[in-house]
Amino acid sequence: MSSQEYMNIAEANLLHTYNRFPLVIDHGEGVYLYDCEGKKYLDFAAGIAVNSLGYSDEYYKNALKNQVDAVLHTSNLYYNPPIAKAAEKLLKAAQMDRVFFTNSGTEAIEGALKAAKKYAYTKTGHAGHEIIAMEHSFHGRSIGALSVTGNAHYREAFEPLMGGVKFATFNDFESVKAQVNENTCAIIMETVQGEGGIYPADPDFLKAIRKLCDEKDILLILDEIQCGMGRTGSMFAWQDYGIRPDIMTSAKALGCGVPVGAFLMTEKVAQASLVPGDHGTTYGGNPFVGAAVSAVMDRYEQLDLCNHVKELSAYLDSRLNGLMEQYDCITEVRGKGFMKGLVCTKPVGKVAAKALEQGLIVITAGADVIRLVPPLVIQKEHIDEMIEKLSAVLSMEIA
Ligand SMILES: *Cc1c(COP(=O)(O)O)cnc(C)c1O
Repeated sequence: MSSQEYMNIAEANLLHTYNRFPLVIDHGEGVYLYDCEGKKYLDFAAGIAVNSLGYSDEYYKNALKNQVDAVLHTSNLYYNPPIAKAAEKLLKAAQMDRVFFTNSGTEAIEGALKAAKKYAYTKTGHAGHEIIAMEHSFHGRSIGALSVTGNAHYREAFEPLMGGVKFATFNDFESVKAQVNENTCAIIMETVQGEGGIYPADPDFLKAIRKLCDEKDILLILDEIQCGMGRTGSMFAWQDYGIRPDIMTSAKALGCGVPVGAFLMTEKVAQASLVPGDHGTTYGGNPFVGAAVSAVMDRYEQLDLCNHVKELSAYLDSRLNGLMEQYDCITEVRGKGFMKGLVCTKPVGKVAAKALEQGLIVITAGADVIRLVPPLVIQKEHIDEMIEKLSAVLSMEIA
């Protein structure tokens, strides 16, 4: 069947919640994707910051194949070897003490919010606690995660959402402090805002928030779903800041394509938080995703991926700055490591569509940002190819 035929079937049957690009992806190889007609695309989106290992990692693929032959699913009523190993490896890399595996990022946020509320409930003996979240944040689409997502457009139709949420301005400590009261149990934010437009937290801001949380026994929840898993050059973005969250979330690259998320916490939180009966999941942390997470953690270590990102990001930065100098429509380059945003005065959706025609996959963030979140295994030559293709697009008349 042709790409057009698949698109017709999809449009006739799938709920219309996405305006998709006219691309039907057939398979991947290395850091390239191929459509049904065999056209090749350099992938600088990685399935929205998911496919960190690219598409040809034999170690990862074999781990999945072997687990398919062993057992896929058992439920959480029993133990299974892959998830035990995955938990141990993830906690070590994340400098956390306890983990709960979920099926997605939004569910990881749900769990993190419940864990924080339960901690406050245990401590004070009563419910009714509040959470402070940030404007322009994105934490997911379920009702709880939407309640702490700082985008009124996403929230409006679904009100009333979870109560007890107050919004503050990201990177403005006073605005956060002004929202704190005796009922505040947690402050939640992305270490680097993703969907909102690629904004890293200022070091002073995050340190001041940490100090405030320590003084008032408020829990700091860092959402590392997009910026974590090596994307910024550290295993988790907060590890560059000299602080540690009380609870953190992961997903996206955690399974490199297998749907899995997680919320992790310190022992201090775990001791006063969720107990049997408080939380659960049928699929979450099943042997199949355990094998995926375990293999992903192995590959990050074997390939020294964080250092690879650190080393190559200097080159990416210099090439992107060159692009900004060359093209007036690029007014700012933001972000860290392989999580970059180019602020663009041309309509970014159209830029991304034109890039596809050139055989380059990029995505957008916010209203005016071209987002680059490539597989972490890209090499210098892929950066050169991306710059060449993006230059061709930026040279075009796009209105
Ligand atoms: C993608 C994302 C989520 C939601 O993850 P899903 O797996 O789509 O539910 C939450 N937080 C951040 C920062 C994200 O980028």
